[in-house]
Parts: sequence; structure tokens; C-alpha cells
Amino acid sequence: MQHFQCYIDGEFADGEARFESIDPATGAAWAEMPEAREADVNRAVEAAHRALYAGLWSKLTATQRGKLLYKLADLVAENAQKLAELETRDTGKIIRETSAQIAYVVEYYRYYAGIADKIEGSYLPIDKPDMDVWLRREPIGVVAMVVPWNSQLFLSAVKIGPALAAGCTMVVKASEDGPAPLLEFARLIYEAGFPAGVVNIITGFGPACGAALSRHPKVDHIAFTGGPETARHVVRNSAENLASTSLELGGKSPFIVFADADLESAANAQVAGIFAATGQSCVAGSRLLVETSVKDRFLDILKAKAEAVRIGSPLDMATEVGPLATRRQRDHIEALVGRSLADGARLVTGGRAAEGAGYYYQPTILDCDGSASPSLEEEFFGPVLSVVSFETEAEALATANNTRYGLAAGLFTRDLTRAHRLMKGIRAGIVWVNTYRAVSPIAPFGGFGLSGHGREGGMAAALDFTRTKTVWLRTSDEPIADPFVMR
Ligand code: NAD
Repeated sequence: MQHFQCYIDGEFADGEARFESIDPATGAAWAEMPEAREADVNRAVEAAHRALYAGLWSKLTATQRGKLLYKLADLVAENAQKLAELETRDTGKIIRETSAQIAYVVEYYRYYAGIADKIEGSYLPIDKPDMDVWLRREPIGVVAMVVPWNSQLFLSAVKIGPALAAGCTMVVKASEDGPAPLLEFARLIYEAGFPAGVVNIITGFGPACGAALSRHPKVDHIAFTGGPETARHVVRNSAENLASTSLELGGKSPFIVFADADLESAANAQVAGIFAATGQSCVAGSRLLVETSVKDRFLDILKAKAEAVRIGSPLDMATEVGPLATRRQRDHIEALVGRSLADGARLVTGGRAAEGAGYYYQPTILDCDGSASPSLEEEFFGPVLSVVSFETEAEALATANNTRYGLAAGLFTRDLTRAHRLMKGIRAGIVWVNTYRAVSPIAPFGGFGLSGHGREGGMAAALDFTRTKTVWLRTSDEPIADPFVMR
């Protein structure tokens, strides 16, 4: 069995305990992971705190920080294949996607490398003639980063990149469900030459590790990605240290298809939106809203595509849908599909766990017209599409917004004015028009409502890892006048 370690204060170390990591394609243990508990968390946060205030890191210029980030990007590029294979092995995400995604993660690090020395303060046109007043942008402090199992290298890059650019130090908690890629990534942090304590990478379970980290008194900000229920715990924990939070949570994103759309292209986007990454994507377009007049035709195209999907070993380049990451995840999907069918949803295709070892589930389509299916409200985080039809644009918009989530939306139409109207009306952080599941380091990403708050990606994300300091400098040599009057 392979053996992984935590990375704390510039050293690789075993955790207070150990646990086995399961290969989701076989259901068998394949690696031993370090389990960090409170004492490890404390060591990691203390190291980050020292690095922020007393170490070499605080003396580097922003340009030097940027150079270290460029070095890290190059190392990720050189080690891309290994990182992709580890992510696939430990989480079941297909190699086709992990290898493409890691290549793009390099671009995120490069983007934030370039941003490091472009974070500027400002000079204020103050209303007092004898004062110079300006704002400095300083790092927000020690950041706790907590990520889920899916796309860990990506979901951590959108936090680590801007936080390093801003000059922060951090403790990253990899998910207990597949931490191998992030623990391996720690070797690149070391090799790139970041001073000890700047980036610490640990893994462990929610209550013993995640909770200890998010309520630690020396944590200033928590950047969390995961489900809304866990986010509530994190926010409650932050009542202890009063850390600020950014929350990237789940979704029940509408995918709206009008009769005038290019149906073949929309169907391909819908397949990308719900079956790619085996549906374990926060932006999954999991609610298909289709105009009644083309519903049957569109479902026929989709059904054929769903049934042609190649299910297999995630390490095989030809595989299109691999296993779910955990047995818990497959059980949740089976139960929710069962409840939806009991509540009147009609099975168009799929609906069963695949035979044999591993946590496979068939690409599934549920026609929910005429039913109050829970599948229209609850997140599967799996390859299950719920379909409803609509007659009018107003009905499409009302149904799209009939959710407590608000992460993403897809809109398929050739009518430009309608696209503009709907784009404004949809309550979601991302709207894709005639495309789906596109991301870029340059474009912010994040949600409304139960999908969380804060944005990742873009310049704004780097600014979110800073806080301002207002500096007042009196330019007069005259003695200070009446000390009992505020200046
Ligand atoms: P999760 O919420 O169960 O776990 C996420 C992380 O939180 C894990 O590292 C876990 O150990 C940790 N955690 C658990 N309990 C904790 C506690 N009490 N205090 C602090 N940390 C704790 O999420 P998951 O099931 O691993 O992932 C799936 C969820 O993540 C889905 O809802 C999905 O939509 C969401 N997600 C969102 C995005 C986004 O960017 N918006 C991206 C990917 C996934």
C-alpha cells in the first residue's frame, strides 16, 4: 500500500493517526493516509502564523512571491501526469478529465503569479489640507482552506494561488475522501522553495480536523468548498474566532433549452453538464427545463447519448463515466432516485447501480413532469438529470429560479434578446449562454443563496485575501491644536 504524509512547517510527517483510502473503482483500500487531529492542526496553524509575522515570507517583495508562484506552476506542469493519476486513483474521477484539468490548473497558478505585484493600494483625496492618507492592502492573515473530494487540485488552486499572491499563509485541509493528490502536491510546494509554514497541507475528518481548523483562534479567514450543511458547521465554528468566510457550496442548476436552440449542440452541453465527472460537479446542470414542443425530440437525443456513454475504469483514457467517489455517495443517489420514482418521476434511462465491484451508477434521466419529485430540489452530486417542460419564457424563468441554490445556469436559444432578458432574470452566480461548464482563471466563480458567497478566480479573488490598512500622515510642522476636538 502507498503511504502518504502531511506537510507541516516545511516537514513531511505522519498524522496523529492513520486511515486507509479506498479506490472507488474497486472498493479496495490502496493507500494509507495520515489523519491530522487537533494537535496537528495546532502545529500547522502556529507554523502558518509564525511564517506570516516572523519568517522570511513577510520580508519577500510581491514580485518575489510571484516568482515563487511561477516556479510552482512549472513544477505542477512537470508533475501533471503523476498528479492526475493520483487524483483518478483516489477519487475515481476519469483520467481524461484529471489530466486536462491539471494542465489548466497550471494556468491558474500562472495567472496569480502575474497578479502578485499588481495588488495596489490607493491614495485618498482627503478633506484635510495637512494630511496625507492612503490605503495599504495587506494579507488577510492565516487562511484555513477546506475542500471536498472532487477536483481537489483545482478547488485548492483557486484558493492557494490568490492567497499566496496576496501574501497570506495557510493550512489546507484535503478531503478525507481522496487526499492523495493534494498530499503529493505538497512536495511541489517544498520543491518550489516556499519558506516553511507558508503552505501547510493536512487531511483528516470533519469533526476532529476540519472543525479544529475552522475555529482555531489564529485563523483569520476560512475559504470553504463543500456542501451547505457542512458550511453551516463552518460558519458556527467561525463564531469562535470571528474569522471571515467565503463559501463555495452546491447547486441545483437549471439548464434551459428553447425550441429554437441547436438541439444537437445543447444535448452535448447537457451531457457535459450532468454526466461529465460522473455528475460530481457543483455546477452540474441537474435540472433540464425544456420547451414542451421539443421535449420528446430532445429527450430522444439525450437518451441515446446517455446510453452510449462508455462506463469503465477511470484510469482508461477511453472511459467517459467512472465510479462515484464513495459508497456513501452511491447510496445517497440510489435512495434519492428511489424516492423520486415513488413520488411519480418516470425513468427515461438508467436508474441503477452498475453490477460488480466499485461505486458505479448508470447515467440516469428522470422525467419529472407532473410530479413533485424531490430530485428537482435536492442535490444528487451524481449522474442524474431531472427533466421538466415549460410553455413560456416567463414559466421557464420562474422554474429556473424556483430553488434555494444559485450557482450556475445554462441557457440555449438563438434569440439574442431573449438571452439578454433571461440572463438578467436568472438568480445565479454564473450564466452560460449556448455553452456549459466553461471556466477560466480570469473569470470569477461563485454562487447566490444556498450556493454560498464570495468569488474564486479573477482579480477580485486575490483582493478578497487582503484587508486594507488606512495610514494617516500629518504633513504640518505646526503644533497639534485643541487636543479635545477630534481632527
Ligand atoms: P462536505 O461538505 O461533506 O465536505 C467538505 C469538506 O468539509 C471536507 O474536507 C470535510 O472533511 C470538511 N468538513 C466536514 N465537517 C466539517 C466540520 N464540522 N468543520 C469543518 N470542516 C468539515 O462536502 P463533500 O460531500 O465532500 O463534497 C460535496 C459538496 O461540495 C457538494 O454539495 C458540492 O456541490 C460541493 N462543491 C461545491 C463546489 C463549488 O465551488 N461551489 C465545488 C465542488 C463541490
